[in-house]
Amino acid sequence: MRYVSTRGQAPVRDFSGVLLAGLAEDGGLYVPETWPSLSHTDWRALRGLPYPELAARVIQPFVGTSIPFATLQRLCRESYAGFGHPATVPLVQLDHDLFACELFHGPTLAFKDMAMQLLGRLFDHVLTAQDRRVTIVGATSGDTGSAAIEACANRDRVDIVILHPQGRTSEVQRRQMTTVLAPNVANVAVDGTFDDCQDLVKAMFADAPFRAELHLSAVNSINWARVAAQIPYYVAAALALGAPDRDVAFSVPTGNFGNVLAAWAARRMGLPIARLVVGSNRNDILTRFLASNDMSVRGVEPSLSPSMDIQVSSNFERLLFELLDRDPAATAAAMAEFRARGQMPVPVPAWQRAAKLFHGFALDDEGTLAEIRRLHAATGYLADPHSAIGIAAARALPCPGVPIVAMATAHPAKFPDAMERATGCRPPLPSRLADLYERVERYHRAPNDLAAIEALVRATALRNAA
Ligand SMILES: *Cc1c(COP(=O)(O)O)cnc(C)c1O
Repeated sequence: MRYVSTRGQAPVRDFSGVLLAGLAEDGGLYVPETWPSLSHTDWRALRGLPYPELAARVIQPFVGTSIPFATLQRLCRESYAGFGHPATVPLVQLDHDLFACELFHGPTLAFKDMAMQLLGRLFDHVLTAQDRRVTIVGATSGDTGSAAIEACANRDRVDIVILHPQGRTSEVQRRQMTTVLAPNVANVAVDGTFDDCQDLVKAMFADAPFRAELHLSAVNSINWARVAAQIPYYVAAALALGAPDRDVAFSVPTGNFGNVLAAWAARRMGLPIARLVVGSNRNDILTRFLASNDMSVRGVEPSLSPSMDIQVSSNFERLLFELLDRDPAATAAAMAEFRARGQMPVPVPAWQRAAKLFHGFALDDEGTLAEIRRLHAATGYLADPHSAIGIAAARALPCPGVPIVAMATAHPAKFPDAMERATGCRPPLPSRLADLYERVERYHRAPNDLAAIEALVRATALRNAA
């Protein structure tokens, strides 16, 4: 399997190449040169498999010859072995035609673990084969950092340094990062905001000698391998509900568009998906785009669903490339205009094709709390604020005669304050995390200063290279 950049000016790479490269050199995102396609017989053969085995078979066409299938099977088994539910991604029925697919049984209780657990192992495998090491640096406001740390802790070929804004993450989020005491993990609390942390990471990547010396790498949501690792759970849910002999629909609470793009990819591979509902909080750029072809950037507003407080959905570029009939020059031009003017120019026929499949739905904080309360009263189910938006969106935009699956992306115990406001109860952490508040924390504190941060990154990498 070969991969091309959405902007057409970067080298064609294989799976291992795009895994390690992340972003393409031309600023574009890597996409498969051709999409694999499965027949009805192929889909049926996946029915009833344990999730790790299903995942390996669905991901295999994207890996191609980069990694032997037996190795991929083992990495998938190891990735999901630590999950807190034997079904890995259980389906819960909420109404006669409405289901939740729980993606939050991984080590950090959010759906990022689904892809990140595999990504860490894929990195280690490919780096060992090439006898290389990398230093992963990243900035986090909460969920992504902890998922990346859990995925990379104790991997032989990877060091990871994650910056978070001192005092600006929730205590659960901070402890999920700082209580991982593996020697190849460093957390840095920066005296500054999340934007300052992100600027420091960008500055490290822009410092060419430093970048080369430390072999800097990233595991952010534009990495193709993350999208690929998110396709199998759409397949698992659809098969459980009768696909390929029956259509299904999905509702996805969305930020960077990575999760719902994986659903689109499953459909592109032949899974009969009749509708994709895209849920947003008050940061509703995608809802405006789907309703009226208005993708214009406004300021980011904080909400009860912080992982969706995003204006520019980086993975949208992959869908745009497809909507523009895979024309890299047109994609590059549209992205340049979007960056310059804050308004994405999508030709009307392309937008119409998107709006036929994707339906947008936005819910503010009051609506989110009301949905958590309603669902709890009606069914006893506790949905976190992100998942509640997906469930409300599924209820608002049903597809007649077709079961709809709302992707549940975080465990309610990650957002105890919102849950208490809505329902009066604080959901407990699962038993494997129950002692989180007693665990020893370790992190560095640093000023918002590039030289100080680079010194910490260098010290972490040197300690382990020896
Ligand atoms: C990251 C995240 C999302 C958004 O997913 P995207 O792939 O960025 O669209 C939704 N909910 C939770 C809990 C998340 O952590």
